[in-house]
Amino acid sequence: MSAAIYTHRACLAHDPGPGHPESSARLAAVLETLGDPAFSALARVEAPIATREQLARVHAQELIDSVLQDPIESGWRRIDPDTVMSPVSAEAALRAAGAVCAAVDSAIGGEHERAFCAVRPPGHHATRDTAMGFCLFNSVAVGAAHAIVAHGLSRVAIVDFDVHHGNGTQDIFWSDPRVLYASSHQWPLYPGTGARSETGAGNIVNAPLRPGSGSAEFRAACEAMLLPAVERFAPELVMISAGFDAHRLDPLANLNFTADDYAWITGRLVEIAGRHAQGRVVSSLEGGYSLTALRESVAAHLAALTA
Ligand SMILES: [Zn+2]
Repeated sequence: MSAAIYTHRACLAHDPGPGHPESSARLAAVLETLGDPAFSALARVEAPIATREQLARVHAQELIDSVLQDPIESGWRRIDPDTVMSPVSAEAALRAAGAVCAAVDSAIGGEHERAFCAVRPPGHHATRDTAMGFCLFNSVAVGAAHAIVAHGLSRVAIVDFDVHHGNGTQDIFWSDPRVLYASSHQWPLYPGTGARSETGAGNIVNAPLRPGSGSAEFRAACEAMLLPAVERFAPELVMISAGFDAHRLDPLANLNFTADDYAWITGRLVEIAGRHAQGRVVSSLEGGYSLTALRESVAAHLAALTA
C-alpha cells in the first residue's frame, strides 16, 4: 500500500480575515501533525492547479469567473458574510481542487492508492453556482467528476462526516447516479439541508444526528445507513469529505465525536475500498475548528487511512 499527502503553501496563506474560524492555524496544525515520524513514509506532493476544464464539470462558468477574475491586490473581498477572499485565495482554491484531482489520477493510475489532501479553503458547501460557507470550489466534487470524466469510472462514493451537511456536493450530484453521496451531520445546523428525505436519484443518503449525539449515535447511523449504502453501491473509488468539526471539542457545533470515531469510520471505508475499489481512497480536509481536536483527529484518520 502506497499513500501520499497533497498540500500547497497557498492553502496555508489563504486568509479569510482576522478572527475567522477557518484560519491558517488550522492547516498549520494539520501539517504539524503530518510531520510526525509516524507519517514519514508517506509521499509528499505539491498540489497542482486545477484546470478550468476540471472545475467546469461541476461549477457554473459564472462562479468560476467570479472566483478567478479581478485579482485582489490587497485586503479582502466578501462573497457572503462567512466566505471571504484574500489575494492568495483564488490560488488556494485552485490548489485544493487540483490536489484532489491529482490524488484521483494517482489512485487510479496505481501510484498511490490512498491520499490525504491537506488543503483549504474547504469545499463541500460550494454548489454548482454558489460559493458559500467558507468554500469557493467544491474540491471533492471536482475530483469525483474528474474520476468519472477523465478516467471513465462509473461509480464514485463520497462519504462526508463533517458536522455540517455538504449541501454543495448534494446539489452537484443530486440527479447523477454515478456518484453516491453519503453524509452524517448535525441537524438542525448550517446550512439547513440534509434531511433524511433528501435522496436525489436514490444516490443521496443523509444521516442527520441530533445535537449532543456522540460516538454511539454516529456509529449506529453508519452501520444502519451509510456503510450499507456504500457497500451496495460497490464504488470503484471511495472519496472522503473529511471534516473534523463533529469532535466534542469543536466550537462551531454540538456533536461529541472522538478521534477514535474518525479512525473507526476511516477503517471501515478502507475495508469497503479493499473489496470494491482496489483499495483506492482519496480524502480531503473540510472543516474542523478546534486545533487540539484537529491534531488528534487527523492523526487518527491518517493512521487508519494508511494502515
Ligand atoms: Zn463543517
